Amino acid sequence: MNDVRRVLVIGGGVGGLAAATALAQRGADVLLIEKQATFDLPGVGLGQPANALRVYRNLDVLDEVLDGGFIYNTMDYFDKDRNLVVQHKFLLGDDSTPAVCALTRVRLHQILRDAAVSAGAEIRLNTTATEMNDSPDGVHVVFSDGGSDTFDVVVGFDGIRSSTRSHIFGEAFVPRPTGYGAWRVQHPRPDYVKSMEFLQGIGSKTGAMPLDDDLLYLFHIRPEDPDVWIEHDTLVDNLRQRLEGYGSYVAEARDGLTAQSNVVFSPLEVLLIPGPWHSGRIVLGGDAAHVVPPHLTQGAGLAVEDAVVLAQELRGEGTVEEKLNRYAERRYARAAFVLTFARQMLDDEQSARSPQAYERVLRDTALYGSQRIAVSDRILNTPVIHERALV
Ligand SMILES: Cc1cc2nc3c(=O)[nH]c(=O)nc-3n(C[C@H](O)[C@H](O)[C@H](O)COP(=O)(O)OP(=O)(O)OC[C@H]3O[C@@H](n4cnc5c(N)ncnc54)[C@H](O)[C@@H]3O)c2cc1C
Repeated sequence: MNDVRRVLVIGGGVGGLAAATALAQRGADVLLIEKQATFDLPGVGLGQPANALRVYRNLDVLDEVLDGGFIYNTMDYFDKDRNLVVQHKFLLGDDSTPAVCALTRVRLHQILRDAAVSAGAEIRLNTTATEMNDSPDGVHVVFSDGGSDTFDVVVGFDGIRSSTRSHIFGEAFVPRPTGYGAWRVQHPRPDYVKSMEFLQGIGSKTGAMPLDDDLLYLFHIRPEDPDVWIEHDTLVDNLRQRLEGYGSYVAEARDGLTAQSNVVFSPLEVLLIPGPWHSGRIVLGGDAAHVVPPHLTQGAGLAVEDAVVLAQELRGEGTVEEKLNRYAERRYARAAFVLTFARQMLDDEQSARSPQAYERVLRDTALYGSQRIAVSDRILNTPVIHERALV
């Protein structure tokens, strides 16, 4: 990797693990640090559309991802009682890449962690960077265990609350609340749920994503006051109340919630840092640089695309400054498109605040829902990484 030999990746989420793998596969000497003692939250899943699956092929883990997940090729819109409004057949993928594969986050982390280690990356859990001193020759980093080292480049994939972003930009770019929140819980998969689906409600939207033959994850999105903290021991009761008014398996899931149900709540926030995404030799990727609403299931997809584009650019010609500039130039338009499009979907569905508005949203979805997603599919299906394995 020419003048970029030793790289520190901060953050062991989907993006950081993909970056560590891509960089190590291209010959870099990679250390990844993760502040948690174990990898990631149980209880939630990730839809990975074809553009993300192409990244997994590039990282040589596509077969494991497909084996570990549930493949689907439609997005189905229903009313609140699960009467079909419109079915959209994705225009994503190609002969060798399915439209979407969804899997548990824990499973995806296992696959990527194994890939990073096999490629030669070193992973240190329970570790953060407490000091970073950037100079023209390298970044000197002091770790929370007291050790220190110098790196050619530091890559911050440390998520929505990124301290690497604060180190570079202070508070200039921080995630902003949308005023909506997402509730998630896993539930046994009824046979008839075979794709990602949305059930439009009045004042909220619910949906499901199959994760394997036996499991789906249910999500529920509605207005939530960003200034109100929801206590962990009230999550189940809160979700139960919020699912009132829905029929079909959503009603069954609501009735089946118990104190042991692993309900996850996340306020929905958005962020897009204008390029460049670096200062000196420290660069951002994934949610540290852009946070999008979940509607296109693209947040982690963008993060893994960032990872491979960054690894490709760091291997390319020019100075570190030129390489990092090219990286953000290749990524900004994609992230901006996903943010804008997903935000519009969120606003449209959440405009169904009254019975009349609900009927309007259902009519609009029946007429235009599939046509709109088709536009997004065509854009997202345009390759952004060089497909040849180690380019
Ligand atoms: C409701 C909801 C549903 C979603 N559904 C999907 C979906 O279906 N498909 C999809 O592609 N995306 C989805 N997303 C988005 C996706 O979860 C994120 O975009 C993705 O996880 C970002 O990956 P990342 O690696 O950048 O950050 P993260 O996954 O957040 O990982 C960051 C890692 O950095 C670690 N870390 C943080 N600070 C430090 C530090 N100082 N030092 C060391 N380590 C640190 C964290 O512990 C974490 O492990 C969804 C998001 C939400 C809110």
